[in-house]
Amino acid sequence: MNIDLSEFSAPCGCGKEHPVLLRDILLEPGALKKLPQLFEREPYRGFLHPVVLCDENTYLVAGREVLRLLPNAYGVILNPSGLHADERAVEEAEGKFPTETDLLLAVGSGSIHDITRYCAHKRGIPFFSVPTAASVDGFVSTVAAMTWHEFKKTMPAVSPICVIADTEVFAKAPQRLTASGVSDLLGKFTALADWSIAHIVTGEYLCERVCQLELRAVREVCGQLEAIHRGETEACEKLMYALLLSGIAMQMVGNSRPASGAEHHFSHLWEIEAISPHINAYHGEKVSVGLLIAASVYHRAGEQLAAGNYRFKPYTGLELELLQKEIRSKAILDEILLENADDPLLHVHPEELAGKIPRILAVLSELPTEQELRRLLDLAGCKTTLAEIGLEESIREPSILISPYMRKRLTFLRLLKLFEFMA
Ligand SMILES: [Zn+2]
Ligand SMILES: [Zn+2]
Repeated sequence: MNIDLSEFSAPCGCGKEHPVLLRDILLEPGALKKLPQLFEREPYRGFLHPVVLCDENTYLVAGREVLRLLPNAYGVILNPSGLHADERAVEEAEGKFPTETDLLLAVGSGSIHDITRYCAHKRGIPFFSVPTAASVDGFVSTVAAMTWHEFKKTMPAVSPICVIADTEVFAKAPQRLTASGVSDLLGKFTALADWSIAHIVTGEYLCERVCQLELRAVREVCGQLEAIHRGETEACEKLMYALLLSGIAMQMVGNSRPASGAEHHFSHLWEIEAISPHINAYHGEKVSVGLLIAASVYHRAGEQLAAGNYRFKPYTGLELELLQKEIRSKAILDEILLENADDPLLHVHPEELAGKIPRILAVLSELPTEQELRRLLDLAGCKTTLAEIGLEESIREPSILISPYMRKRLTFLRLLKLFEFMA
């Protein structure tokens, strides 16, 4: 698949410039074999001391081959057991980099990428992304999702300058990882609905072109889910393309708005263990469960709004009592309060909101229903229930109430705090 990145940074009707930090994407079967050729041309020929960062598993599926193809590259192979993007892994990796290292290559999935992009940023050198599974949309992210001294933190990092995605490699990834990528991608349905609704309600910046680009790619993947489940190369390539595109959309806009809404706030809430125990689920698996909960709440609320079965609740700020009661740790509560110091609901004017409801309903009418989303997720073998990711059903209601506070970003779920429905 040939991807021309200049198309994305072209002048746009939204009036904003869309910088794309990524310079090249090679997405095709056998892409790895083109690495030596790539290093013969500008600007890559100047890199003489690349380091390949992988773990023992990704070494076997791609790292070994990359090192064979690039004779002057040095390999750093981490132990995959208990490997997280944390200070320990960063220290271990950094301790192994030769001093002259001028480029890093992340060969792996999420954690390896976060470790690499953080190290590259710290050393002030670029990095290449070599994804070994179509498992997340974060390969081309500019920030690293790290666990730093036991706290989940988004840390400044850099985007890769080049992605080498070899379809022969990632199409053979374990099915659970690929399904997790589908889950992360289908989360864009609520993420984009949230963005549109926030735009309607507060006038928050929105780029129509970015939304359309993403929706088109997501819909295309929805037509290929069974083939993706079977690991068919062409279909898996479409999934990887859509995931990369979602990352590019974040670069174009300069934040994660196009890729992350209420569904990601659920995932984040469970990840930081604010109200629930530790679970061993992949990022996308938490996102798809959050997506289904959000879609069900959104459509139920939409029906009530359409029927005029509501009144506005006087807004009294964050629900402190609820947060204090449900959140397990003072440190997490403090972080949530800090995040919400600028409360997005204070930017909403209830008197104007009533007139905007028809436009909100129009957005909701484009959002697939919970049943439709469940059908799509099932086709790809994705996780769809709380039980499947190790959570009790009793966590559903508190999660609906608390997850909107994970970010100060306005979502429809957060907006619903202004409404009261008459049964
Ligand atoms: Zn635009
Ligand atoms: Zn995600």
